[in-house]
Amino acid sequence: MIISMIENATEAEIAHVIARVEELGYKAHVTRGEEKTIVAAVGSGRREELEALSAAPGVERLIPIAHPFKLVARQGRNARTVVSVGDVRIGGEEIVMIAGPCSVESREQLFETAYAVRDAGATMLRGGAYKPRTSPYEFQGLGVDALKLLREASDETGLPVVTEVMGTDDVDLVAEYADMLQIGARNMQNFSLLRRIAKCARPVMLKRGPSATVKEWLLAAEYLIAGGNPNVVLCERGVKSWDTETRNLFDLASLALARQLTHLPVIADPSHGTGRRDLIPVMSRAAIAAGADGIMIEVHPCPERAKSDGPQSLEPEQFRELVQGLFAPTRGLAKQPSRTGSATSQRAAGD
Ligand code: PEP
Ligand code: MN
Repeated sequence: MIISMIENATEAEIAHVIARVEELGYKAHVTRGEEKTIVAAVGSGRREELEALSAAPGVERLIPIAHPFKLVARQGRNARTVVSVGDVRIGGEEIVMIAGPCSVESREQLFETAYAVRDAGATMLRGGAYKPRTSPYEFQGLGVDALKLLREASDETGLPVVTEVMGTDDVDLVAEYADMLQIGARNMQNFSLLRRIAKCARPVMLKRGPSATVKEWLLAAEYLIAGGNPNVVLCERGVKSWDTETRNLFDLASLALARQLTHLPVIADPSHGTGRRDLIPVMSRAAIAAGADGIMIEVHPCPERAKSDGPQSLEPEQFRELVQGLFAPTRGLAKQPSRTGSATSQRAAGD
């Protein structure tokens, strides 16, 4: 952090800032210019209290130079993190494809979907047992029965399974059945849940909150790693916008930025990101171009009968087509106009 003093800061004011910086655990490097003095607080210390120095006499402003998310930051690391979920590696060379229903509704529905997505190329299975629904009157999930079905479907198909855990009381139970825990968008800043899951041995997928900034999202990930769980995968699932044509604003710029700022793998969820079946294949391709380490897609054997998120669920055949077209080449670059002679000769000819 750089602390810039006002032009006529007194020696006492400067000395006070230096003393306080050191008291908070940092080293103070002082640069005295012709007009201004600058104090650099170097190292790590009590950042929030350091930020309060903007209220100290003689201080003009504070300029942060390091990210507040130290453990998730890419800065100072040469390797990206690869998170293993069973035999699946998220964040390595290959794109991971996670697919399955929004909610587990029945044994038939789950197993039909699980086999269909596996045969179409999925590497992991998803499915909600505990559903965060906006209304208490909507389908809330089958709970522990769904967890048991997910475990069975995972064992039978060989696809590791990820499912959401909504509350601290459910963490051990969900971890008993699932290979990976999902923290839903609405729970991204549920700090008790983050602290509790940090103590769990399972890898975790942290969805971005619907109105969270990238910094807030990464600080939520920081809670998990600081609390003891290094196996964190981020998931961009769209943020709220004013436009009602899409369910959310699928923020691929933030996905690319999160991947640039951190060493963590980032998954894209175009199902929740767009809420529209017709946009999911093209946005999956766009997410890969933006650097996503994997894609998560909702699939239902009969979307029109889905108990949740039917409009954004793909039929198994549509999912197969999506996978097949994922890496199809994009259009070629237009040919450059033919050149006759150099720029100088063309200009001369035109004179
Ligand atoms: C989900 O993945 O089914 C889900 C509820 O996602 P989100 O938390 O992103 O809304
Ligand atoms: Mn859903």
